[in-house]
Amino acid sequence: MRSILKQIPKVELHCHIDGSLRVDTVYELMKKDNILKNDVNIDDLKKQLRVNNDCKDLREYLNKFEIPINLMKNTKNIERIVYELLQDSSKENVLYSELRFCPLLHKTKDNSLHEIIESAIEGINRAKKDFNIESNLIMSNMRHLSFDENVKLIDAAKDYLSSNVVAIDLAGSESDFAPNLHQKLFDYGLKKGFKITVHAGETGIAKNITDSIDLLHAKRIGHGIDSIKDKEIINKLIRENIMLEVCPKSNIDTMAVKDYNDHPIKKLYDLGVKINISTDNRTVSNVTLTDEYYNLFNKLNFTKEDFYKIYQDSINLSFMNEDKKAAFLNIKDVI
Ligand SMILES: [Zn+2]
Repeated sequence: MRSILKQIPKVELHCHIDGSLRVDTVYELMKKDNILKNDVNIDDLKKQLRVNNDCKDLREYLNKFEIPINLMKNTKNIERIVYELLQDSSKENVLYSELRFCPLLHKTKDNSLHEIIESAIEGINRAKKDFNIESNLIMSNMRHLSFDENVKLIDAAKDYLSSNVVAIDLAGSESDFAPNLHQKLFDYGLKKGFKITVHAGETGIAKNITDSIDLLHAKRIGHGIDSIKDKEIINKLIRENIMLEVCPKSNIDTMAVKDYNDHPIKKLYDLGVKINISTDNRTVSNVTLTDEYYNLFNKLNFTKEDFYKIYQDSINLSFMNEDKKAAFLNIKDVI
């Protein structure tokens, strides 16, 4: 069954580049730059990059990004990391992927936001040529940064709206920074022509979902699993055709839910909420998209027909150029 699920065409809409570096690549790049301590081996490194079972919360989970964020200050590394992530994705038949990151975190005195974004686009173009995988970028604004900081990203990224940048996002700890703090930023981003997705309702604050839609113009919500607590919010998601980008293993890792059986993804899907299945952070959660499909198939009774519907919904609500969608909706061999 696993090999069938691996071959099912997939769309991934919520994957952080900096959470999805190959461990071997991290090891190699750290060695090359002499930042790997002599006594650190690849198993030690795995421990540093992946969450373990006693991860306490989202804040601890976010600590796992320190090494990748530093490695991605080198734009050559970004090109390679994006290329490899898309290679890994194409091996499990992801036909379209939206990758996200925050270039502000990789800015140094030696590079520019434009160079950082362009290096990711170069990785996308090389992967498209080699693996025929289509992909676009989402720029993650950070909750803990000010308007003046985040707006620099929007201003740089808007130059690539006719290329592979399609949307903006808001990421970071939602319990410390409410959506309304960033209303002006998202008004500005909308006016500049970005599509919008926002992390919300991941760690217990259901109201953040409504606020992200109403105040930040979100058309998709990252996670949004707390909607299960409130019928009104579920109705709003259905009425306004808002998709949830659901990443089950990540939710287990951050203790947002106990295990797969406890996860509300199937209930939300059965109620009629549009969902996409994604990994969030492949390395941090030590998960592939096929793993997620396998667990949802085995533990929550998703069927191949459900996965077909999720594929179609995900293309329809992706931020891909509208002209390109028909070709992705027309594939015959989905099941
Ligand atoms: Zn995320």
